[in-house]
Amino acid sequence: MAHYEILIVGGGPAGYTAALYAARSGRRTAVVEKLSPGGQMATTSTIDNYPGFPEGVDGFELGEKMEQQARKYGAETIYAEVTGAELTAVPKVLHTSEGDFTADAVILATGAYPRELGLPGESELRGRGIAYCAACDGMMYRGKVVAVNGGGNTAVEDALYLSKLCSKVYLIHRRDSLRASAVYHKALEEAGVEIIWNSRVTALRKEKRLTGIELENVVTGEKSELACDGLFVAVGRVPDTALFAGQVETDQAGYLVADESCRTSVPGVFAAGDVRTKALRQVITAAADGASAAHWAEEYLLKRV
Ligand code: NAP
Repeated sequence: MAHYEILIVGGGPAGYTAALYAARSGRRTAVVEKLSPGGQMATTSTIDNYPGFPEGVDGFELGEKMEQQARKYGAETIYAEVTGAELTAVPKVLHTSEGDFTADAVILATGAYPRELGLPGESELRGRGIAYCAACDGMMYRGKVVAVNGGGNTAVEDALYLSKLCSKVYLIHRRDSLRASAVYHKALEEAGVEIIWNSRVTALRKEKRLTGIELENVVTGEKSELACDGLFVAVGRVPDTALFAGQVETDQAGYLVADESCRTSVPGVFAAGDVRTKALRQVITAAADGASAAHWAEEYLLKRV
């Protein structure tokens, strides 16, 4: 069974920044990642608010560069899915699709995944009209009519992205004002996105694919139908913590409880990035967490000796 001083679960900006710092401290370090470097960031076509890139940067490319930079200092990547963990054991154990690995310290940087609406037929229509990422699936809806559900930055960015590809974009939001940053409001108008306020999606219409959605105005109770080829669901994210929830303290929403030191309720276990309780979930705050988590993991390892 391979042993590492620091094992990191998740290869997004938090995970690879932690790997960079841990490897540069001379620790035997590996990132366990199930897909490709970058995490959620890799599905973002252009990141405009990561400093140092005045023209913006492609999220997939930034993820690959973060992996390369960590690898340059000796961090390994194990491409595997984590299926279980023994975080209070000595050493700590990660069970994965590629076998078991042990570690002295573990940094959990698993991020969060898109929340579903929970409507009948939603899973079945995934890839056939229901989507959760405009940058990933938008091209499939070129020239088509689509709706985006949500009022946060993700929903608005998705709507703006799709407005360049689709013949018509609706943005459906359950309130009468957007949660998204003010900078986007004018952009939506200029892009011709039609906002349907105070409304929720109550049902999905389908034949072989999605053909439309049913809406309810939450103020008047009025019901309506909207014909569309695609519905992009952007109603927030759910932390990817199910595997660790029983072992590490979480808040009500499932985020791993940790302050800026990224220390969790379990000694030697750290939480970094979107998976941690925090006010602002961004690429830069995830990267900052990665550095912090590696720093405090190093302190933990030094104190154990
Ligand atoms: P979010 O900010 O939590 O917004 C979720 C939106 O979905 C809210 O408008 C919410 O409505 C709505 N919603 C939640 N549950 C719903 C349901 N069951 N049915 C219908 N609507 C529902 O999530 P996000 O947009 O994914 O963003 C997550 C984080 O990433 C945020 O901190 C965001 O600022 C950040 N982010 C930043 C950027 C950027 O700066 N470029 C880009 C993307 C994301 P209410 O408003 O009524 O609660």
